[in-house]
Amino acid sequence: MPATIFRKGLNLKNDVAGVLARDYHSHLIEEIKDSGYLWQSGRLTLHLAQEFGFCYGVDRAVDYAYQTRRRFPDQRVFLTGEIIHNPHVNMRLREAGVRFLTDPGELFDQLTPDDVVILPAFGITVRELEHLDRQGCTLVDTTCGSVLNVWKNVRQYAQDGYTAIIHGKAHHEETRATASQALRVDSGRFLVILDRREAELVCNFIRGTASREQFMKTFKAVCSPGFDPQQDLKRVGLANQTTMLMSESLEIGNMIRKAIVDRFGETSLSHHYRAFETICSATQDRQDAVTQLLKTHQFDFALVIGGYNSSNTRNLARICAQQGPAYHISEPSCLASASELRHRPVLSSSPPLPLATDSNIEERTTQQWLPATGPVRVAVTAGASTPNNIVGEVIEKLATFTDHS
Ligand code: SF4
Repeated sequence: MPATIFRKGLNLKNDVAGVLARDYHSHLIEEIKDSGYLWQSGRLTLHLAQEFGFCYGVDRAVDYAYQTRRRFPDQRVFLTGEIIHNPHVNMRLREAGVRFLTDPGELFDQLTPDDVVILPAFGITVRELEHLDRQGCTLVDTTCGSVLNVWKNVRQYAQDGYTAIIHGKAHHEETRATASQALRVDSGRFLVILDRREAELVCNFIRGTASREQFMKTFKAVCSPGFDPQQDLKRVGLANQTTMLMSESLEIGNMIRKAIVDRFGETSLSHHYRAFETICSATQDRQDAVTQLLKTHQFDFALVIGGYNSSNTRNLARICAQQGPAYHISEPSCLASASELRHRPVLSSSPPLPLATDSNIEERTTQQWLPATGPVRVAVTAGASTPNNIVGEVIEKLATFTDHS
């Protein structure tokens, strides 16, 4: 029996509103917003970016997950993996009895038609969806509309004979899901590129100055099966993981466009190259807001709050690190004391090859991170998967260190 799929929630929005507010709301954040995103306490002056935290896609995904638990109190409810990249939110869902299919011992193959499976905001691959459909589970699809829009364009590329070049992280759930959309068409092809360095290699191949061996050495694991760069880079369409750094995505698009013009000439560009904007507006708004904040004020440092595996949080941290000291922290306990801070090092430029993964960059401890005396000026922002209560708790903890000179 094919799966039943809920795509627009379960009509329980009002029923879960109270518990969502309990789990994620912050009075302090509301107060700071009401004061023009500025807050002062003791020697601390804190500016909050005008756009930060939960985006519309995450808001909706978390809402649907709570509705699912409420609607199916006696059935097993699973997530295919993290619903979003925030440890606090995932922990809350675990506490509500939601199980994660990525946990050791949980098996996709052992699901039954009585089970309910929630699909995360960044979506799942075509093959995973087909599998769940065959198992006959009830599915609650929270895939964000902005991700669905990318998928639609990637499918169109495949139908029209263009290879999808996806600027993203090959291991990220969203990029894996997006790449799988290209393969819904028999002749569909994809290639994932991480950064400018990899884009340069693709451009060199297009221009004929890099060999097939050099190309395959770097991209073998991140392209579609049977990928032939000689054939499959003649007509390309650009797409992104929605949470990448906007400026980098644009630059990569331009680099590839130029290489195509060099190889095939300006007049046949549209036959060989397509592009469309796939950074979602929420990601862009958060990047623009923190850029603006850093441009208009002086800060001792910036605090960027979000899961260490959150792509959009990491890109916010990269923007901040270009302007001055910036610390990417995941939760209030990272502020261990007035002299010690735990944080994830910010990659201000692209990581060296081979691909860096989320798990191979360790948390670091920095001593003397806070000026010991005098005024402290701090910029704060948070990734699209970070709830307000976590941002509020970080600020409250920071204030306990700066209340006295
Ligand atoms: S970051 Fe953008 S694409 Fe991702 S869930 Fe939020 S709104 Fe959707």
